[in-house]
Amino acid sequence: MRIDLHCHSTASDGTDTPAELVRNAAAAGLDVVALTDHDTTRGHAEAIAALPAGLTLVTGAELSCRIDGVSMHLLAYLFDPEEPALLAERELVRDDRVPRAQGMVAKLNALGVPVTWEQVERIAAGGSVGRPHVATALVELGVVPTVGDAFTKEWLADGGRAHVKKHETDPFEAIRLIKGAGGVAVFAHPAAAKRGRTVPEPAIAAMAAAGLDGIEVDHMDHDADARTRLRGLAKELDLLVTGSSDYHGSRKTVSLGAYTTDPEVYGEITRRATGAFPVPGAGGV
Ligand code: AMP
Ligand code: ZN
Ligand code: FE
Ligand code: FE
Repeated sequence: MRIDLHCHSTASDGTDTPAELVRNAAAAGLDVVALTDHDTTRGHAEAIAALPAGLTLVTGAELSCRIDGVSMHLLAYLFDPEEPALLAERELVRDDRVPRAQGMVAKLNALGVPVTWEQVERIAAGGSVGRPHVATALVELGVVPTVGDAFTKEWLADGGRAHVKKHETDPFEAIRLIKGAGGVAVFAHPAAAKRGRTVPEPAIAAMAAAGLDGIEVDHMDHDADARTRLRGLAKELDLLVTGSSDYHGSRKTVSLGAYTTDPEVYGEITRRATGAFPVPGAGGV
């Protein structure tokens, strides 16, 4: 069983449509794939309709959170997408991404970069708009060679010259909302130091006590030392350990299934969830 529990589509800042994503996941030999777009579930219906036989979809989202000034992401799995409190919070965060991206365009303009909101809007194409879309505009304009190169202090990294914060949920509130919607909460890439400051271990312990189910350990942004440390922490705090690609199509170099989750952990996630069931592929359209 090959299980990849963290992937993005054009519903946020990935480049595969949800239908392309599930087809590519099947072609990559995956048995289970999770669709976890930033702050939105809008890709789910298309992914389900296109789901190839032999591939199971775990519905989810990656929720933008912040604790003590540090941005962090919570993966939420198998929650009820219509539960009103979590839905309202998702919409709040997703909608705030628009004025925030416009703010980054304004900062870039002040720095002499002729990017426009229309350009970013075209690139985002209706998806939950984020820095990778702005970064793609910078690549189009020849300002940086790749999307990754825009994530520096010069440009869009946390605290960078053109960075603007967005609304982000308190993770304790997010865990409460995820649980209230029948979902399972996993802290995404908790040691991704290249993205900025990371959340200290005592705060992770407090989240575990508040109902956090697991942490993502096998991830491209974690080196061997970070993985060893996180595995120890998971054992200490009785947290599930996941691994996943955080696939973004051509906006990142990582491929589908580059990191995977143990089938027993996947089984435990499905046992804990009450908001939704994994969707078995019916052949797709
Ligand atoms: P946003 O949610 O709009 O703040 O954008 C965050 C997203 O940008 C993350 O989910 C990643 O997809 C991407 N990202 C963050 N840091 C980096 C980085 N150093 N290199 C490439 N992409 C990054
Ligand atoms: Zn992303
Ligand atoms: Fe993330
Ligand atoms: Fe992600």
